[in-house]
Amino acid sequence: MATRAIRGAITISENTKNAVTEGTIALLKDIIEKNHLDIDDIISIIFTVTKDVNAGFPAAAARLIGITNAGLLDFPQLETVDGLKMCIRTMMYVESDLPQKEMRHSFLRGASVLRKDLMTDEKYIAVALDGPAGSGKSTIAKMVAKELGFTYIDTGAMYRSVAFYCISKDIDYNNEVEVLKVLDNIKISIVSTKRKQVYLLNNTDVSHLIRSPEVSAGASAVATYKGVRDKLVAMQRDLAKRGNVIMDGRDIGTNVLPNAEIKIYMDGNVEERAKRRFEELDLRGVTTTYEDVLEDIKHRDQNDTNRKYNPLRRADDAVFLDTTELSIEEVKDFIVDKIKEYKKGEA
Ligand code: C5P
Repeated sequence: MATRAIRGAITISENTKNAVTEGTIALLKDIIEKNHLDIDDIISIIFTVTKDVNAGFPAAAARLIGITNAGLLDFPQLETVDGLKMCIRTMMYVESDLPQKEMRHSFLRGASVLRKDLMTDEKYIAVALDGPAGSGKSTIAKMVAKELGFTYIDTGAMYRSVAFYCISKDIDYNNEVEVLKVLDNIKISIVSTKRKQVYLLNNTDVSHLIRSPEVSAGASAVATYKGVRDKLVAMQRDLAKRGNVIMDGRDIGTNVLPNAEIKIYMDGNVEERAKRRFEELDLRGVTTTYEDVLEDIKHRDQNDTNRKYNPLRRADDAVFLDTTELSIEEVKDFIVDKIKEYKKGEA
């Protein structure tokens, strides 16, 4: 392992604490994901901000996403006549096995004009993985992402975050008008590191809170509202532009990424899916029964396949996998092979 340096910059649209936090997190996330870093790989980060940004500290935003052991320091930036306005820059020092020239720098939003020489023009691959609840999508997607260095995007977690927000604010998630009224107050972001993902709802880590059966039911309800879907689908498409991704959900191959390079549709018999989901919840320490999980899955299948907007459906060009009889390893290997085959064809 050696010490490497990664550069980054982003502009923000207003000088508010929230904008500083959001911009800093977006920038750090991009660097972490592009370089497949783990939080523990980060040694230190120096932030500089232009004079017109003084409503918040980037270092405080870094701590929000769990960067607490690294040395963090905020500095004012040298001002130049034609310099970018409202800009946050970083120099991140990390431990890495890769040579310095393999480090991927990140210049986002207005800052993309800064160092074109450091940017690569790579074509990214998107893998769309759809199927009903409990078909094993997330387990498989995580394994594939880890093996191939792809970013895993769990779109269900986004619908869950909206439901969790409503529950925590006492808003009836079955009332579409009430949910749409608060939609603009909901900011969701995912930070993917080598080892885990952190889901932030308005800059608070909700990763564990969104897995309860109550949130599952709420997610399935809010996912039927067009306003909610439009917002989350736009976010999902944006995430897919930033690197190689494997995205799981219900409408990825049909609606979110219709041009995904690889599309897989996984299904399995409902009792087997409920059994798997029950075991998964049990492992996480969530108290429930097999019968309740089965009921929940049947209800969500019903909601997901019959809703008006972007229902669960296999895309015509998706490969169908019945996972009832297949082991996790077999499904994972099948998808990894498909991706490798695709890459070989492109090379
Ligand atoms: O995948 P997960 O079970 O976490 O998703 C929670 C709920 O979110 C699903 O039951 C479904 O109603 C909704 N969802 C969706 N479209 C997606 C992902 C999830 O409608 N792309």
